[in-house]
Amino acid sequence: MTQGAMDQALAGQAGITSNTTKYVYFFGGGAADGNGRMKDVLGGKGAGLAEMTNAGLPVPPGFTIQTDACREYMRGADNADMNAEMLIALERLERLQGQKLGHGENPLLVSVRSGAKFSMPGMMDTILNLGLNDQAVEALAKRSGNPRFAYDSYRRLIQMFGDVVLDMGKKGFEAIFDSVKEREGVKFDYELQPQALKDVIVEYKKLVKKETGKDFPQAPLEQLVAARDAVFRSWNNDRAKTYRRINHIDDWLGTAVNVQAMVFGNLGENSGTGVGFTRNPATGEHVFFGEYLMNAQGEDVVSGVRTPLPISELERVMPRVYEHLRSITWKMEKHYRDLQDFEFTIQDGKLYMLQTRNGKRTGLAAVRIAIDMVREGLITQEEAIFRVEPNQLYDFLVPRLVEKGEKIEVLATGLPASPGAAVGQIVFSAEDAVKYHNNGTYRTIILVRGETTPEDIAGMEVAAGILTSRGGMTSHAAVVTRGMGKCCVAGAGDCVVNEAKKELTVKGHTYKQGDWISLDGTTGRVIAGQLKTLPAQPDDPDLVKFMSWVDPVRRLKIRANADVPRDAKQARLFGAEGIGLCRTEHMFFAEDRIGHMRTMILADNEKDRREALKALLPMQRADFEGLFETMESLPVTIRLLDPPLHEFLPQREELLVQIARLEETKPRSPKLKELRTLLARVQELHEVNPMLGLRGCRLGIAFPEITEMQARAIFEAAVNVKVKGGDPHVDVMVPLIGSIEEMRNQATIIRRIASEVFKEKGSSVEFLVGTMIELPRAALTADQIAEEAEFFSFGTNDLTQTTFGISRDDINHFLPAYMKAGIFKHDPFATLDQAGVGLLVKMATAKGRNTRPTLQVGICGEHGGDPESVKFCHKIGLNYVSCSPFRLLTARLAAAQAAVQEMQTGPDIHNGTC
Ligand code: ADP
Ligand code: MG
Ligand code: MG
Repeated sequence: MTQGAMDQALAGQAGITSNTTKYVYFFGGGAADGNGRMKDVLGGKGAGLAEMTNAGLPVPPGFTIQTDACREYMRGADNADMNAEMLIALERLERLQGQKLGHGENPLLVSVRSGAKFSMPGMMDTILNLGLNDQAVEALAKRSGNPRFAYDSYRRLIQMFGDVVLDMGKKGFEAIFDSVKEREGVKFDYELQPQALKDVIVEYKKLVKKETGKDFPQAPLEQLVAARDAVFRSWNNDRAKTYRRINHIDDWLGTAVNVQAMVFGNLGENSGTGVGFTRNPATGEHVFFGEYLMNAQGEDVVSGVRTPLPISELERVMPRVYEHLRSITWKMEKHYRDLQDFEFTIQDGKLYMLQTRNGKRTGLAAVRIAIDMVREGLITQEEAIFRVEPNQLYDFLVPRLVEKGEKIEVLATGLPASPGAAVGQIVFSAEDAVKYHNNGTYRTIILVRGETTPEDIAGMEVAAGILTSRGGMTSHAAVVTRGMGKCCVAGAGDCVVNEAKKELTVKGHTYKQGDWISLDGTTGRVIAGQLKTLPAQPDDPDLVKFMSWVDPVRRLKIRANADVPRDAKQARLFGAEGIGLCRTEHMFFAEDRIGHMRTMILADNEKDRREALKALLPMQRADFEGLFETMESLPVTIRLLDPPLHEFLPQREELLVQIARLEETKPRSPKLKELRTLLARVQELHEVNPMLGLRGCRLGIAFPEITEMQARAIFEAAVNVKVKGGDPHVDVMVPLIGSIEEMRNQATIIRRIASEVFKEKGSSVEFLVGTMIELPRAALTADQIAEEAEFFSFGTNDLTQTTFGISRDDINHFLPAYMKAGIFKHDPFATLDQAGVGLLVKMATAKGRNTRPTLQVGICGEHGGDPESVKFCHKIGLNYVSCSPFRLLTARLAAAQAAVQEMQTGPDIHNGTC
């Protein structure tokens, strides 16, 4: 029994009437069965075609086979109902057109187009001119009086059908086509004469037979069914699956299939095809924007074979068509109340619309269009808040390339690893970057590497941009540059980087050290030569206006992670309402400090350790003063020393090499003795698993003098700033607490030092002592911990590591396998795992507030800048999120969207409870 028959039998048994699904929706003759709201059923394209038909726009008629049919096909069901409905719709189309599919003197030809609920560019190629065969092509040639056009259409069909339906790929066809073009001595497709095109067709058909063992199908209906099923199957091809995974689209949705009467843009010089936008999608400027080609079909415009013309040119050559197109697209924009991205074809001077949808746009354009549309009365301010995706605001914080009026030669396209633009002279090692930066040889530098490692950090710091030929979106280069807010193109496989010879070879050019290139980290392009850049514009008037709508509606406060005054200044510029995480260890890595830090660590007794700490104290104090001054009366959360101590020491292998070298060359040097002592201490400190070793509050418990020094630096700085008229608000944060006892131990020291300092200085400041919750045990006992802790900040990086038992630094070894197997939908270190880690956060918040109703709760870490995670934090009622300065705008917008959504749908019923 087939699945369908079985379903029916089961339905019968249960007393349910048989399936009443409508599988096929017709559009044409001025009305459509469906409409624009039916994206779930008809897919985006089908819904758009229905809506345009209903609006009386010139759309070639046809029908949409809905997504249910795709889901049933994927289950292997034999769907007689769908087949029957399709034939009825086809007959209706034939009657309406007065034609028969692939038959008679005036054969009907159709396109077969995929179209899912969410647009998935490149998922499946459209098949055009379906219905043509050896007879129909002659009829078409005769009727159109244009044999070149007829044969061109036929050879296109065989090529597309072979590629898409028969899975033969494009290469074989292209080779044949190119060889005939060469034989005929022509450059462009449309220059081939009918006889030459006939030769192409013969060769194409031979190729089909050779590769598939069967002839190219001549029966039009057989072509149609095969094409339809290929569209269904394309839902599960690798390209489509990857795209869905990246864009978080459900696998079970399925795609619709649109079958539509053909109109021809390749009929001659009075015909053409094009694409466009109702406004400029790059800048948002309110100007009609698009490209077209005369005597062309389908994807010719975007294929790059011929250079398309700007749409303004159409105004000159076909003013009436142009005006018609303008008025239609303007109407569509008003109707959908959003930027429209449309496709059209002109057949013999008559305009047809083939597609319209809400257009994709850059962040700059999104903001500008949202503001303009509010001004034009198309949308409300509240709607405008949702017209920009939180991540898009990043575009305002990074420089960009000036492309207008420039000749752009794209050398390679890699991954858009970190947005922004960089134009500079290339160097091939971190040392060279530092050297040529410091001696001023190059003003702006682009560091080019196969891939980067932690040793390249200094070079990355001075470079304006990074280009790597290997590595993905989570490679070292990508992660580090995103943190720095610096442009990076990663994994540009076409770039051959020879670090030894200091050469970059790409597209046949060889670039040497000092040569100029331009990078666009927003799109991943590597561009030849020295383009100009526009600086970042956090004070862009459009942005300022937009944020003035965003900020008043959000409830969540947004703080920044900033370790030094420079970052704090940037954070304030981008709207930080405090510092949520100041990592004090970052202050110890500076050149003038690491020495004292090492002495402190190497000390094998408390006295020596205290001496070294004394040297560090004034430096820390000065840093804190800078932070308090910059942040004025906004809260500043300072975390005590957290990382394992070995991070401050040279690596064991490095020492071994140095020692071996000295033993050979200068065996008597006192330096050798020093190195040996260092090595001994490094070996002593060596841990099998430093992530779970002597770090966090364990440092301050094992060596209380460290906590004492840091607390002293903090309170002395605060009082100093206060005495000078400032108003510092200090939160002291103890890392990696797992129990109330640990918390009490450290809190006692901090409070004791505070009262000592206040007494010495004769002045005091208000402060809180709290903790990072980053261990499951801390979350589970949060009610107890809150007896001592006055605030919680969830360190969701470590909490994710310890909840999953996955090391963040090692996840790349298996993340791809996990994504492929569908175990992870995304990297849990990038987007908070709401079901597990999120539950701990929610539970600990509730428990903590139970003990201490005034408990302030926030999160810090990567998740603080991820829109989905920010929305979650809003939902569970946290007080703030803290993120890197470059993520502040994103977090502000995500928080506002969460608040508006909540007003519309009511608060989450789980809010604050567990
Ligand atoms: P995509 O989803 O990749 O944009 P489409 O289904 O929109 O694919 O088809 C791509 C192009 O094919 C269209 O922009 C249009 O130029 C051409 N096309 C599709 N259907 C027809 C048709 N019925 N008549 C003429 N051209 C068509
Ligand atoms: Mg399209
Ligand atoms: Mg941590």
